[in-house]
Amino acid sequence: MKEYYIGIDIGGTWIRIAVASKDGVIIDRVAMRTPREGDRYTIANLITETIRASFSKYLEYVKAIGIGTAGPMDLATGVVINAPNIPIHSFEAARPIQDTLKKPVIMANDCVAAVWGEKLFGLGRGYENIVYITISTGIGGGMIVNDLLLLGKMGNAHEIGHMVIDIKGKMKCGCGGYGHWEAYAGGANIPKFASLLLEEWALSSEEKESHVYRVHKEGLLTSELLYTAAKSGDKLALKIINEINRYNVAGFENVINLYDPEIITVGGSVALQNKELVIDKIREGLKKSSGVVTPVPRLEPTPFERDAVLMGAIALAAKPPQNLIKALKYLQIP
Ligand SMILES: [Zn+2]
Repeated sequence: MKEYYIGIDIGGTWIRIAVASKDGVIIDRVAMRTPREGDRYTIANLITETIRASFSKYLEYVKAIGIGTAGPMDLATGVVINAPNIPIHSFEAARPIQDTLKKPVIMANDCVAAVWGEKLFGLGRGYENIVYITISTGIGGGMIVNDLLLLGKMGNAHEIGHMVIDIKGKMKCGCGGYGHWEAYAGGANIPKFASLLLEEWALSSEEKESHVYRVHKEGLLTSELLYTAAKSGDKLALKIINEINRYNVAGFENVINLYDPEIITVGGSVALQNKELVIDKIREGLKKSSGVVTPVPRLEPTPFERDAVLMGAIALAAKPPQNLIKALKYLQIP
């Protein structure tokens, strides 16, 4: 008897959908741009139409559907509320898909999904204490502590990107707070923080010759440009990245002290596209750190690369954690 599971990754730019076997092998997949405008049902409607059009031959054998979505959210109702990184900020993520396709839909925050995927299918296998951290447009995390997937009262127990790592609050975060980790090291904010450093620092005449400095003066600095320049040997770019990594190390130190993980896997475009300049440097920083009170855990890039959330969504569908099922009040299991 065939048995399939569907995973859905709802991100700020892309929605990815895959059909997989129970052990997480992807059989078929499709990706589309996240709608820029519409109402609270636009995203769910697009997903159900796409599943019907692309995966009709599997649908009969699909046992459950998992969703990993950018948040914040209310798990009880399956609604995403005021998500800063999704163009339609508030929408019904789960119930319309469940009602239309007549399959149970298990949803969670994207990083929460990703850490569950890591536990079932990835580097987290065999561990009871696992953290997943994404360094992407923003910074987020998912945690499993003593085999329990952490959720919180509404499903938002992991907003590590908004932990304060600078009490002077030099940088303002997209959420409105000051001194938050992602305001320094999240992809959307890196150009602003880099520009602030370039204005603050007393630069040598050689540094002012740097491509990065010229682009900054034109107001065109991006994170991609900064990391590309560092890879080609631009010393000023490296100096900025070293400074950003001090904040990353502080963030990781806090996470290690809070959750005492055995392993941390890292995803997100900023980290995965610049593994040597981000993940390796954080690992080096943690080795030298005196800021952690517990042994430093294993730190690795996620083996799923950009599919970390998608694999997590498949994992939620294939083997949903009991505490999550309890939290999803809308959920109907036939
Ligand atoms: Zn914030």
